[in-house]
Amino acid sequence: MQNKVRNAMEKRWAFEEAEALFALPFNQLIYDAQTVHRQYFSPNVIQISTLLSIKTGGCTEDCKYCPQSMHYNTGVEKGHLLKVSDVVEEAKEAKKKGASRFCMGAAWRSLRDKEMPAICEMIREVKKLELEVCMTLGLLKEEQALQLKEAGLDFYNHNIDTSEEFYDKIITTRDFQSRLNTIECVRKAGIKICCGGIIGMGESNDDRVKMLVVLANFDQPPESVPINKLIRIPGTPLENQKEVDPFDFVRTIALARIMMPKSYVRLSAGREQMSDEMQALCFLAGANSIFYGEKLLTSENPTMQRDDALLQRLGLRSAASSVIHN
Ligand code: SF4
Repeated sequence: MQNKVRNAMEKRWAFEEAEALFALPFNQLIYDAQTVHRQYFSPNVIQISTLLSIKTGGCTEDCKYCPQSMHYNTGVEKGHLLKVSDVVEEAKEAKKKGASRFCMGAAWRSLRDKEMPAICEMIREVKKLELEVCMTLGLLKEEQALQLKEAGLDFYNHNIDTSEEFYDKIITTRDFQSRLNTIECVRKAGIKICCGGIIGMGESNDDRVKMLVVLANFDQPPESVPINKLIRIPGTPLENQKEVDPFDFVRTIALARIMMPKSYVRLSAGREQMSDEMQALCFLAGANSIFYGEKLLTSENPTMQRDDALLQRLGLRSAASSVIHN
């Protein structure tokens, strides 16, 4: 296993190799993932982030899973950018409840320069609370990434969502390469990357493996890898999508853990629909981060009471960092 870990750190992954891992007998895959996990992280610690929508609805993009797209009738109203003071109050609450990272998301295609002063002020003010700050603001230009970095932004979330081959089945208003371009600007500016995808949109297991190969083969893999399970939102084109096989979902988590051993793998959207047993299996497979709080942008997330009870039953504790080796 030592070799497997060392290799995972140094290598570029070939699809065939990742696919073979995904196809391992389930128990072997989980064992390997848990073994890798313990090389870099404390096994009983979960990092907690809180996510706030700072500008909701009316997005011009057509992501088929998203209730905030103006293309679908989901009942989500278009809102304005929140006031900085309101954002700071929410961040204080999140910190009080144990979050170590405060993530802010805006529903728009790309950051407009006229929003930049308010966005930078939000970053500066939340940083003063000694929280890590993450933002997701759509496509970015290089100079914008530099300004966000200067304001103190720690992480930028920009998901690739799925494989390049499946991408246009889900989104037609932008392409896969535009995502990679923004990620490159973010990395160049010295901001850490949060980048993952969504499982259960009709993609195949090969698409899931391909997505992870792209992420793991970044010059530096993302520091955070959110793995979302599709929430089938009424009014979106994916509202009747077939449920993903739960074991395939867990396999995807395990593969992310093995291929990106130093990254936080976040069990993100879709936890509300998961049983406690399913979540426990995901933690065993190497997920070590969750979103905490009853709303995930506009979607439901487990109540804090349910999460507290689950962490307690599993003997897991939350912490700002569970890294044991870099
Ligand atoms: S996922 Fe983001 S970019 Fe896509 S429609 Fe929703 S808010 Fe817009």
